[in-house]
Amino acid sequence: MNSSDAKGPHLDVIVVGAGFGGLYAVYKFREMGLKIAAFEAGGDVGGVWYWNRYPGARVDLPSIDYSYSFSPEVEQEWTWSEEFASQPELLAYFNFVADRLDLRRHYQFKTRIVRAVWDEARKLWTVTTDRGETVAATYCVMATGPLSVPRDPEIPGVELYTGELLRAGRWPHHRPRDRFQRADLSDEAADCADRDAYDFVARVRRDRGRRVAAHERTARLRWLNAFACSGQYAAAARA
Ligand SMILES: Cc1cc2nc3c(=O)[nH]c(=O)nc-3n(C[C@H](O)[C@H](O)[C@H](O)COP(=O)(O)OP(=O)(O)OC[C@H]3O[C@@H](n4cnc5c(N)ncnc54)[C@H](O)[C@@H]3O)c2cc1C
Repeated sequence: MNSSDAKGPHLDVIVVGAGFGGLYAVYKFREMGLKIAAFEAGGDVGGVWYWNRYPGARVDLPSIDYSYSFSPEVEQEWTWSEEFASQPELLAYFNFVADRLDLRRHYQFKTRIVRAVWDEARKLWTVTTDRGETVAATYCVMATGPLSVPRDPEIPGVELYTGELLRAGRWPHHRPRDRFQRADLSDEAADCADRDAYDFVARVRRDRGRRVAAHERTARLRWLNAFACSGQYAAAARA
């Protein structure tokens, strides 16, 4: 991010988040000629697709529905290799869009916004980062998504577990993304929920040939449907 963009009291817009929403907001506001500063807690673009990099992570809507349609160049130059793209391809798409539209220069990555205060008299938002910087702007767009912060399950005694607890939404970057390792499963436990769970279960069965116990607090139609109706997932789970 250009420091001249971020400093000073006269920015037009602050955008928080570099997922689908945040990148589009930055692009759109720049097209409108507005002065922008953007912040992302993660190390790069991608939003949930930056964080959710566990084996088996993929879209559950056709990839084409996930494509940006606002830019003819971006639309024409990208071809999805699968009808339901996997996480590495989603991340590649984010990188392509960010490079193609030169969006990264507006962002400060690895920077979390910890406070946002509206000054009614000055008609100004002041946001504070976890690095202690403050930035002010007329508008503040929280493109922070509904799923980017994992919620640890409240399981009594979980603190006694001595293995590594893996979380779908914070999958370690150093682990392979294309398959489960023995180390992911043998004496460790993976916590996942809802839409992540059916990716997990199918992949664990496929990669390790193991029986998998999936525990879900609230039986939801979506979860049941995934196994009852989705040929793709059901076949993978049986394999
Ligand atoms: C595994 C998975 C699969 C999914 N599959 C589909 C699908 O197939 N189709 C579909 O439509 N939707 C799907 N979703 C839903 C998905 O969340 C949305 O479709 C979309 O990607 C959300 O984009 P977003 O820009 O709103 O938010 P996000 O992608 O969540 O991006 C928000 C970003 O804001 C950052 N952030 C949050 N708080 C702060 C802060 N205080 N300071 C700085 N940065 C912050 C986060 O780090 C994150 O990178 C899926 C979600 C998951 C987790």
